[in-house]
Amino acid sequence: MPDFRIQIERLTDRKTPFEFEVAPAWWLARSEVPEGDSVVVSEPFRFALDASRVSDDVVIEGTLEGEVGLECSRCGKRYPQALREPFRLVLEPFDGQAPDPEGEKGLAENGVCLGEDLEAGSYRGAVVGLDDFFGEVIALAMPLQPLCDEDCPGLCAHCGAPRDAGCDCEDEKIESPFSALAGLKAQLEAEQQD
Ligand SMILES: [Zn+2]
Ligand SMILES: [Zn+2]
Repeated sequence: MPDFRIQIERLTDRKTPFEFEVAPAWWLARSEVPEGDSVVVSEPFRFALDASRVSDDVVIEGTLEGEVGLECSRCGKRYPQALREPFRLVLEPFDGQAPDPEGEKGLAENGVCLGEDLEAGSYRGAVVGLDDFFGEVIALAMPLQPLCDEDCPGLCAHCGAPRDAGCDCEDEKIESPFSALAGLKAQLEAEQQD
């Protein structure tokens, strides 16, 4: 039995609101991210959605909101990342065609076979189980390249400290390959003038 489910007989052609809270432990047990490593989840993911039945289709639309602790990919600092992911899923009645093994598993466990784009799929039975769908939406909401700030300056090339914290090297002239070349050029020019 899926943990997050909607009874199809409860749905009409008018939108019915549902709210689900996905506990951190639930998600950590399903995802391949070890807790305390790169992702820290301390509060539930919240799914607010409207579900309706349009002829035989089940339409689910809403937004995931949450917050996780991530590690900045530039400076390595931990920071809170707000998550917000809108979604819209249209499920048609399962047409009986044998799906791939993953779809078969989804139908058996959740009564739902998800399409690859997470926007369409099919359902079978009296209950729409949203476990797999919620797991995929959370994964989708995670940034591929976490940044503590869009303009995060990263680490100091000299001392390795985060540049935004301001290390002691800040006022030193950091020689770039270009400034070294410019210095060489100036030296050559000076020699030629002799
Ligand atoms: Zn950063
Ligand atoms: Zn430094």
